[in-house]
Amino acid sequence: MLSSKLIKEAALAAGADMCGISPMTRFSGAPDEMNPQFLFPEAKSCIGFVFRIPRGVQRGIEEGTQFYQYPSMAYGGINEIFAPATLYHVGKVIEDEGYEAFVYRNTGARGVVSDMDGSEGNTLSPEEQIEINENAKTHTAHHRSVQFTRPAREGGVAPDLQFQFRIAAVACGLGEIGWSKMLLTPDFGPLQRVAFLFTDAEFDEYDKIYDGPALCRRCGACVRECPGGCIPSIDSGKKIMITLEGKTIEWGDIDMWRCYAFYTHAGRYYNPFVPKEVWDKNENGALDLMEDNKTVANEQEIMKVYTALQKYFPSWVGYNMAKCGGCIRACVSVLEKKGGCMEGRFNEPLRKKKAWRLDR
Ligand code: SF4
Ligand code: SF4
Repeated sequence: MLSSKLIKEAALAAGADMCGISPMTRFSGAPDEMNPQFLFPEAKSCIGFVFRIPRGVQRGIEEGTQFYQYPSMAYGGINEIFAPATLYHVGKVIEDEGYEAFVYRNTGARGVVSDMDGSEGNTLSPEEQIEINENAKTHTAHHRSVQFTRPAREGGVAPDLQFQFRIAAVACGLGEIGWSKMLLTPDFGPLQRVAFLFTDAEFDEYDKIYDGPALCRRCGACVRECPGGCIPSIDSGKKIMITLEGKTIEWGDIDMWRCYAFYTHAGRYYNPFVPKEVWDKNENGALDLMEDNKTVANEQEIMKVYTALQKYFPSWVGYNMAKCGGCIRACVSVLEKKGGCMEGRFNEPLRKKKAWRLDR
């Protein structure tokens, strides 16, 4: 048995901003191919770590002045550097006590089903999307699922098992899932990323699933400020519902493929790097997905968009060059002003003037 205080202190000292611990039994009932109980069958506990996204990382996008810092620091930096370093250090503390530490950093496109839409087989990966576009005729494309994988043992699930991070964070008592599908925490609102560690150690104390005041205000700001209309309206009834240890958790059924186009390329009014004429011309209908709201978002449409727009922001940090985050900034702005979470965190609010929109 381990002390939860010991591990939480180690986590915060190693750079995490929050830490919560769940018994593995909370994952019972998850679909097998996404159930972390299969990862390490002897594991008794799951430790969740929150890494805050500094609000200022999105300042450049909020002002329309600098778009590189958000994907490089908040995606690349946290996923590749800060979170793995913390997992490594906390893992050592656990293994020094004689228990095993199965670290699990953020990783996309590792599962037997697509992490975009849950479908089996061949869906595209975002991380190397640009390379795919350039090499599609001669190279095998990368995918959002590992389509030829198979279970290594009878009764097991096929590798690489990938679970739902936000649900796991809720299991660890770290916060709630907001309507926008983002994890909301009391201190940081939607501004964080997460990582996990599974161990055969039991703890003297486990965190309860968050049951404080609602963190999501169901205000619809994320719906209104999404440039792609990817988040359904609150009263649309389009939502996903699950039950975790008897608690119902629900969020908007977001069009993930559509978000995939808009979070990187942001659309006519929110991408200052793409000339107006490119949108006007819409050569071969490549931008139909972003220019009308009738085209159904799927990987073929995404390929067209990426092929047409990649040259206008030819930077690369190992992650898609996100230029949107509209739902995050809308949410921060509302929560700071109206409360729910993040209250009193900053002296000045994120937004003091009207959000920008290109006039074209
Ligand atoms: S990241 Fe951008 S495109 Fe995606 S849901 Fe949020 S606001 Fe919409
Ligand atoms: S913007 Fe409002 S509705 Fe959307 S996640 Fe944040 S609090 Fe919830």
